[in-house]
Amino acid sequence: MISQQLLLDITKCSRCGKCTAICPMFEKTRGWDTGVARGKLLISWGLVRGELEINDKLIESLYQCPTCMLCEQECAAGAKVTEIIREARALVVERGASVPFSHRGTFDTVARITLRDGLHRDWLDLIRGDFRESGEIVYFPGSLPYLEPILDFDLGAARIISAAVKIFNRAGIRPTIVKELADSGHDTFWSGQYQFFNALKEKNSRLLAGAKMIVTTCAEDYYILKNEYSLDAEVYHISQFVRDLVREGKLAFSKGVERVTFHDPCRLGRHMGEYDAPREVLKAFADYREMVRYGKDAACCGVGAWMNCNKYSKQLRLDRVKEAAEAADILITACSKCLSHFSCLMTEPEKVEDLPDIKIVDFTEFAARNLKDI
Ligand code: SF4
Ligand code: SF4
Repeated sequence: MISQQLLLDITKCSRCGKCTAICPMFEKTRGWDTGVARGKLLISWGLVRGELEINDKLIESLYQCPTCMLCEQECAAGAKVTEIIREARALVVERGASVPFSHRGTFDTVARITLRDGLHRDWLDLIRGDFRESGEIVYFPGSLPYLEPILDFDLGAARIISAAVKIFNRAGIRPTIVKELADSGHDTFWSGQYQFFNALKEKNSRLLAGAKMIVTTCAEDYYILKNEYSLDAEVYHISQFVRDLVREGKLAFSKGVERVTFHDPCRLGRHMGEYDAPREVLKAFADYREMVRYGKDAACCGVGAWMNCNKYSKQLRLDRVKEAAEAADILITACSKCLSHFSCLMTEPEKVEDLPDIKIVDFTEFAARNLKDI
């Protein structure tokens, strides 16, 4: 149920239009105010008060947004736009409408499958490195093992998970990987399916009960575990974990010459305020370059929770990789989903005009590749 505070937030909107000027999705879709924050706030208000019926247009308005938070960051009224949109989505779900997932809801279905016990693909065999299956320092690979078999391109899931294990091992740690963990629930939460999210959270919390430290390689998993779970463990994104190990002298890198730039995932950056850790690590060994839009002003990869993968999000992805190509030869991401969306775009050179020549590489894999023996 949408809180009184959020309702108050909606009334604070002065309709100044700043969000209209800044929304990356609106820049592509154009059209009516329902495509920007101030319109979505009004829709949420009408929905709460039962003044609007749920139809395709209303669903499109609420779910087209990747909840990148750019508008919220700039909103002079301080409206918690993304939270309001999420709560409105929850109302839509509560009233029986279906979430308009892309890819025919395959990723949502897979998340549901991970809820069941004993149905897990035996992916631990694919991992190289020294790890254990129970212990206090946990590596959380999130949806990585389940994304790879669905996507029709090489995401490098086994390589990324092995790279994370290599980082732990190099620092003298044998991490725990719990095979039975379910999907983190990030997408379920942001699609407004709270009941489903709570089931995923309950299962994972039970399996993580003994953990003291959890490290994720995905920005979305970091966001959801840290913000929406109530764990007794410290949760870190791998960029923070690596930065700390470097500062403690437990990890070092070989100096490289590759020109790299970093894409701030919305969940790691604007949602969690972590901009420095990945940069500190990358600058330690690579020829680091910044894109025009970076840090708190970084552009979104275009897709949120597998709900708006379409021609507009593709244009946003293309804009971002072009921007990256102007700055560097390698675009580093620190989120399994950003990696999926950018990599997907790069697999279609024959379909995408002006696709730049740039490599998309996961942060963990890139860092592990450049580790030095100490
Ligand atoms: S920036 Fe904030 S106050 Fe201005 S129109 Fe958008 S939501 Fe309303
Ligand atoms: S969160 Fe991002 S995409 Fe959604 S309305 Fe705000 S600026 Fe636009």
